[in-house]
Amino acid sequence: MRFCALATIMILAWASPAQVAPAALSATLAPSAIRQGRVATLTILASVPVSRLTVRFAGRSWPLYRETNGAWRTILGTDPTTSAGRHTITVEALTPAGARLAVRRTLTVLRVVFPERRITFDPERQALLTREAVEREQRRVNAALRVLHGERLWEEPFNQPVAGKVSSPYGVLSIYQGVTRGFHAGTDFPVPEGTPVQAANHGIIRLAEALPLSGNAVLIDHGMGVVTSYLHLSAINATVGQRARKGDVIGAVGSTGLATGPNLHWGLRVSTVRVDPMPWTRQ
Ligand SMILES: [Zn+2]
Repeated sequence: MRFCALATIMILAWASPAQVAPAALSATLAPSAIRQGRVATLTILASVPVSRLTVRFAGRSWPLYRETNGAWRTILGTDPTTSAGRHTITVEALTPAGARLAVRRTLTVLRVVFPERRITFDPERQALLTREAVEREQRRVNAALRVLHGERLWEEPFNQPVAGKVSSPYGVLSIYQGVTRGFHAGTDFPVPEGTPVQAANHGIIRLAEALPLSGNAVLIDHGMGVVTSYLHLSAINATVGQRARKGDVIGAVGSTGLATGPNLHWGLRVSTVRVDPMPWTRQ
């Protein structure tokens, strides 16, 4: 009698009010609670044509990327400066008739107690850390990342760009010469000078040059606002505009720029927010 019962359920579903008047805009958030430094994915579906679709979270708007099935998607990033607690995500759009559609979701950000590290540079390295150098580097990085690829190029999971243990994890509060300079925006691997550095995933090289503080640097655009960075290299083996495959050697470990010794600093940005790259290697 299983067949008959199933038929009854289908008839009830057909007649339910939810089927008659579906929501015009729906949003799915996964996961709904994350630690500081992690990300959540928001997927939006519209049952009518919409325009001016916007997503706001943590005091800013987020770029939306179109999926092949017609849905829109964005990856919401957090860092140690994102306040812990419940955040409202607001999705808004206009129908062709000009009616305003809105849907809200809640993302809970869980506080992480990040450790502190004190770093003392020799006078020669310390001289590199000037406001002018910080601004010059930021200008170069902003220019390199102005236009990013709209479609996802990466395949899960990301590879760790060098093998070995972590010396300084993401999020550590960095105190240079006794002054707090913000959080550590990546993961450091203390590997020997000259160790090959591999692209963590498929992408497009957006920056491959010497920067004042990061030293020899490579930035890879993986699409949908996801960018990885490889800093303090002794050698660069990549050119801007070139496609990289996961595992391609893009440079060698060094200690250029503001580094206390040979190490690879690996970072991951999501729409300019520097998030923890390590969870991306375990997906
Ligand atoms: Zn670092």
